[in-house]
Amino acid sequence: MNFCNECGHKVVRKVPKGDNRPRYSCENCDTIFYQNPKIISGTVTIQDNQILLCKRAIEPRYGLWTIPAGFLENKETIEEGCLRETLEETNAEVKIQSLYAIFNIPQISQIYMLYLAHLGQQEYGSTTESLEVKLFKEQDIPWDQLAFPFVPKILKYIFTDIKNNEFPLRIETIERKK
Ligand code: ZN
Repeated sequence: MNFCNECGHKVVRKVPKGDNRPRYSCENCDTIFYQNPKIISGTVTIQDNQILLCKRAIEPRYGLWTIPAGFLENKETIEEGCLRETLEETNAEVKIQSLYAIFNIPQISQIYMLYLAHLGQQEYGSTTESLEVKLFKEQDIPWDQLAFPFVPKILKYIFTDIKNNEFPLRIETIERKK
């Protein structure tokens, strides 16, 4: 960040009075710009013991498989965000069931909140964001072509939980190597 969103003056990075860490601050209009973690919402969509994955048509990780998920928009609830992302990436209007996983990724200041969802009789298919959308059985998962470190983690959890027919809330902190 270089310039103030409020007045256009150059900003400086300093610890504001009474605070304990540096923030971008405008010395002209005294606005302080707080930067906080971003939330990513998505769905783990199940149909007949299979999981809905999409092959990314956008960077980063173009051509690799992931579950439908993306950044929450302003004024959106987690549930609205995960339904919107799922529709945008898989063309499916899924039914969400319950919160299934919270993954903290502190190194990049991101928090994933993933809902369990069911496909039902919904259609699905590729979109401008996905080259291909497909239901995968456990043995068919392309383990060497998954887009992000959280994807194999969530897939291992969900296939275990499907076998046990129990879906406890999974909370984990993911260390990301730079
Ligand atoms: Zn300013």
